[in-house]
Amino acid sequence: MENVCGWIAQARNSPVRDRLSGKQKADWLVIGAGITGLSAAHTLAEMHPQARIVVVDRQRAAQGASARNSGFVVGHEHPTTDELLGHQGFAGYEVDTSISHAATAQVRQRIARHGIECDFRDSGYFFAVSDPAKLTHVEEKLTTLKAVGATAQFLQGEQLIQKLGTRHYKAAIWCGNGNALLQPAKYVKGLLDALPENVILYENTDITGLERVGKGHIRANGVDGSIEANQVLVCLNAFIPRAGIDNSGTFAMELSASLTRPLSNKEFQAIGSVEPWGVLSTRPLGATVRLTPDRRVMIRNTAEYRSRDLSNSDLLQRRKHHVLGLQRRFPFLSEQDIQYTWTGHLSASRTGQPFFAKVEEGVFAVAGCNGSGVARGTLWGRLLAEMASGASSPVLQSVMQRAQPGWLPPKPFLDIGAMLRMRVEAVRARTEI
Ligand SMILES: Cc1cc2nc3c(=O)[nH]c(=O)nc-3n(C[C@H](O)[C@H](O)[C@H](O)COP(=O)(O)OP(=O)(O)OC[C@H]3O[C@@H](n4cnc5c(N)ncnc54)[C@H](O)[C@@H]3O)c2cc1C
Repeated sequence: MENVCGWIAQARNSPVRDRLSGKQKADWLVIGAGITGLSAAHTLAEMHPQARIVVVDRQRAAQGASARNSGFVVGHEHPTTDELLGHQGFAGYEVDTSISHAATAQVRQRIARHGIECDFRDSGYFFAVSDPAKLTHVEEKLTTLKAVGATAQFLQGEQLIQKLGTRHYKAAIWCGNGNALLQPAKYVKGLLDALPENVILYENTDITGLERVGKGHIRANGVDGSIEANQVLVCLNAFIPRAGIDNSGTFAMELSASLTRPLSNKEFQAIGSVEPWGVLSTRPLGATVRLTPDRRVMIRNTAEYRSRDLSNSDLLQRRKHHVLGLQRRFPFLSEQDIQYTWTGHLSASRTGQPFFAKVEEGVFAVAGCNGSGVARGTLWGRLLAEMASGASSPVLQSVMQRAQPGWLPPKPFLDIGAMLRMRVEAVRARTEI
């Protein structure tokens, strides 16, 4: 079976750009043309209109995780017990939420400024569970969410069924005022298509390493060419080790998702003609599910710590897992109703916080989106460009203060620890897949 992302298939392709060839020079080099790299390129172009800014990507631009994600624009995370108002972790949760607010505001600004049509829906989403025991401390969570500026409401029974059109979920917190949904491939393609003229993009250009050359410049080497730049922004997320940055405290994960055909009018009426929605699980390995504006169902219910890509036969197995999740929610759907199945890579850290740093003179990098890089990547790209340009702001200070991804043990201890942790989390999430 083919690994085809349904979001990309529905967004029109941008024109193909050249590969990097020969020896080139630039004032600024951005490695990685996902949300973070493209956002960084826009900010650099705004701050330095006369500069030569080059962006490179190993594959087609805007077709990595930034196009393959579930499209949740995260303004408010589901608080953990330690993060509830009155607990020790609340102060950190409050700072993280203020960063997420700035991030969602940045997404809105980009969409408005570049006129990006990406099915943006500013109507919040649900933290929903099938097993009510997986949604505890409801009153405290509502109070906590409201204390950081969210609108939040608890729903269960018929009220919830009328919102989601399925009896699978038994309880939920709907959370708005910041949280939103979008079509990810259309969003990142919008960032790509709006790049100004002083940004040059090379596609299918795999950077294999960075080296310092004369005058403090950095040379990025590709297969068919190289580029020498004054400053380099590494926006590779899960692929950050490819730039030779091995100590970021982040590790790669591979996720898989499926998107169905649109529901028929009869099916749609049978589920109550509900509004489009998005559901996040309260468990890290629970399913992320959406009913899209064109009435398709998207499910993402696998996440694996992997160093090698899933093969096509592995992907077929993952699709069976998607079918199971779909049928739990909408029993009339079967494997034949799935039109697209795909994978994507993200970068995680032990603490849930990113790596965001000046790595050495002239090299700046960010990674560790921990599954919420649509909004944060948009902000981080801007902030990385501002930091590299010598600018500062309260939100940049907050991001730098929180950017502590935590220590990771060396391999093979990391591999063993991560595998065990994933197994435990999978058991904890088994009612929620
Ligand atoms: C299935 C899935 C669901 C997700 N759901 C959500 C969600 O709902 N909400 C949310 O906020 N986040 C979600 N995420 C995370 C989100 O997709 C990422 O945080 C975000 O895309 C990160 O953007 P980025 O630009 O930093 O990285 P990427 O989009 O990964 O971009 C990095 C780019 O670098 C390129 N590259 C790699 N190696 C090289 C090299 N050697 N040389 C040159 N270029 C290279 C890649 O081709 C890629 O285009 C999800 C991720 C996945 C995989």
